[in-house]
Amino acid sequence: MKKHNFYAGPSILSQYTINNTAEAIRNFAGTGLSILEVSHRSKEFTAVIDEAQQLVKELLEIPEGYQVLFLGGGASMQFCMVPFNLLNKKAAYIDTGTWASNAIKEAKLFGEVDVVASSADKNYTYIPKNYTVPADADYFHFTTNNTIYGTETRHDPDLNVPLVADMSSDIFSRPVDVSKYDVIYAGAQKNLAPSGVTIVIVKESALGHVERPIPTMLDYRTHVKKGSMFNTPPVLPIYSALQTLKYYKELGGIRAMERLDLAKAELLYEAIDSSKMFAGTVNPEDRSIMNVCFVMKPEYAELEKEFLELATSKGIVGIKGHRSVGGFRASLYNALPIESVKVLVDAMNEFEKKH
Ligand SMILES: *Cc1c(COP(=O)(O)O)cnc(C)c1O
Repeated sequence: MKKHNFYAGPSILSQYTINNTAEAIRNFAGTGLSILEVSHRSKEFTAVIDEAQQLVKELLEIPEGYQVLFLGGGASMQFCMVPFNLLNKKAAYIDTGTWASNAIKEAKLFGEVDVVASSADKNYTYIPKNYTVPADADYFHFTTNNTIYGTETRHDPDLNVPLVADMSSDIFSRPVDVSKYDVIYAGAQKNLAPSGVTIVIVKESALGHVERPIPTMLDYRTHVKKGSMFNTPPVLPIYSALQTLKYYKELGGIRAMERLDLAKAELLYEAIDSSKMFAGTVNPEDRSIMNVCFVMKPEYAELEKEFLELATSKGIVGIKGHRSVGGFRASLYNALPIESVKVLVDAMNEFEKKH
């Protein structure tokens, strides 16, 4: 049976990415060797990482003065690398969920952290507005898409300090004004590649202003200087990332991806809003277009398990909500076809008719 993959991460990849990765595992770039067994310094792999960097720059329209890095350690490693490299005295953070608060915890090891706002009071069901960021902060850190709670900030705030963003779960889903940022980072396993690589976009002029010593591997300058080849990079995920980037380009680039993503989200939110049985969990204006969180209304709460069973029988995978929200979460990453969303909406309608 055809599967409809709504996992939050690791998550669906395009067939193009999967097929080309499988082929490279058998025979990489005509070398007669698997990509799993060639040197990262071979000319064939150097071409891969160079093209991947180039395509990230092209797709996100990254201006001069920025470097694109492919690092290990996941997005979680960036929670400490960012303050290690950028936090001199004080940084501003906004607490919009689990990942944001993990980032805050690490930053506190390096200096003063001004948490300018938090939505913890309502279990992170909204994005705080009307906060002020102190002008003397070294940077303002925010999580663009809160993967667990299903809220999202789909614009680049206008502030008086440089921005730093965790874009792990919505990078490549909208155009970004990179010039406002000192650092953008994203673990690959939500919208790009298998887990194991993290994209870091870093403004070179933002580096070198802290006095503390930085361990070599945690210093962005090490990886800038060596083109992400200071040590062995995550070769296979980088190869897969390149395939996805090529696929995005072929489909028409980021604006085309955004149109597809918006259409998918609209379809599902409409079904939720017109339902008697299901309800969204977050403030409508802060809804994520990547992770749609919803629950059964209280009077139908005991039917959750039965709906999951119906969904499973239709090939729907990965819609069980995160344990901190409950209910359901449908992740609609770029590689998910709108047909899968239709199957989910049909299942919701069928279930509602039955009860
Ligand atoms: C998944 C996720 C993370 C954690 O990523 P790891 O690569 O597992 O460290 C961090 N931030 C956001 C927004 C995420 O969605």
